Amino acid sequence: MHSFEHDSDTSRTVFGTGTVSRVADELRRMGGRRALVLSTPGQRGLATLVAGVLGDATAGVFDGAVAHTPVEVTEVALARATEVGADSVVSVGGGSTTGLGKALAARTGMPHLVVPTTYAGSEVTSLLGETAGGEKVTRTGPEILPQVVLYDVALTTSLPWPVTVTSAVNAMAHAVEALYAPDRTADTDDLASRSLGTLADGLSALQSDADDLDARADLLLGAWLAGRCLATVTMGLHHKLCHTLGGSFGLPHAATHTVVLPHAMAHNAPAAPAAMATAAASLGVDDAPSGLQALVARLGGPTDLHRLGFELADVPRAADLATARPYPNPRPVEHDGIVGLLTHATEGTTIPAPAPTTPARTATPQIEENR
Ligand code: NAD
Repeated sequence: MHSFEHDSDTSRTVFGTGTVSRVADELRRMGGRRALVLSTPGQRGLATLVAGVLGDATAGVFDGAVAHTPVEVTEVALARATEVGADSVVSVGGGSTTGLGKALAARTGMPHLVVPTTYAGSEVTSLLGETAGGEKVTRTGPEILPQVVLYDVALTTSLPWPVTVTSAVNAMAHAVEALYAPDRTADTDDLASRSLGTLADGLSALQSDADDLDARADLLLGAWLAGRCLATVTMGLHHKLCHTLGGSFGLPHAATHTVVLPHAMAHNAPAAPAAMATAAASLGVDDAPSGLQALVARLGGPTDLHRLGFELADVPRAADLATARPYPNPRPVEHDGIVGLLTHATEGTTIPAPAPTTPARTATPQIEENR
């Protein structure tokens, strides 16, 4: 019998279109009066928009968030928060910005509101990965979980198509690994399958019509559902590989997830047939690993690590790192297997669809002729 333990974190979620108009009310509700608004340099415009809506409740804008939350950047942002007299943090953007907001909130106890504009899912987790001295260390704790998440579909329409695809597949990765997590529950199975279906539908609809706001809403909703999977259950081999490739080889987060996920699924499929059947049904394909890889290719997403800057010569070291302290996984994590998986992902090998199972032939009736 499957057994599990389940702890749940709580935060407030507001979801809709045009919800950014409620940001000042939501800030006050969580006890903030003067917020430092955070963004990456590229999303300064979005941060300024949110700061404008906050009006007097804006203490300042800091647009220095970068990937992997380096502590040096956190220290500069902390100094800025003190300088402007901030009592709260508002993160506007993707996982990089949310990471900086979490780092500030965890150090100061300031309440944290997130306005997510990618599908990374960090906004609903108590996880924080920070980089110091070139090493990324992940920790978890209730002080890291943002108090309020305000999803505004309208703020995601500027997300370029390539980032839309990779970020949505990054969200799918949380859902897929939730389906075979050792601590999964009936709730997380439901969240995961709904997430995969909503994300796949949203991507296909948006590819047909780039202005389809309902498709954008599907993607953000699917990301929220996937984020809750990530927040609730233990991730496996796929996330370990992506953390290794991002942390030790500097590969881009969402694009790496996009290339590796179908290969990790193909690797795990023999040990997790029920999870793969659920994933396939949710994605609307016959076979989950090959079907997802074909979907990514149809959407124009990356299908090999080589183009992301990873070389075949890097495979043995990556396999060493990924197998040193593996995450729980349905299939035992063995060095040779991981070398094979990473080689396929680097070269972009097409994952074969399993041969269709044909119904067993009925035996030809034996007729005895009486001559
Ligand atoms: P990101 O935050 O770096 O954003 C990707 C790109 O999209 C950036 O260039 C950003 O400026 C741009 N962008 C964001 N919103 C936009 C918009 N509305 N319009 C146009 N461009 C926009 O990347 P990400 O994939 O969202 O997050 C990756 C980071 O998050 C990694 O560091 C990863 O480790 C972390 N993460 C953490 C967790 C967690 O639970 N702790 C979960 C997922 C990801």
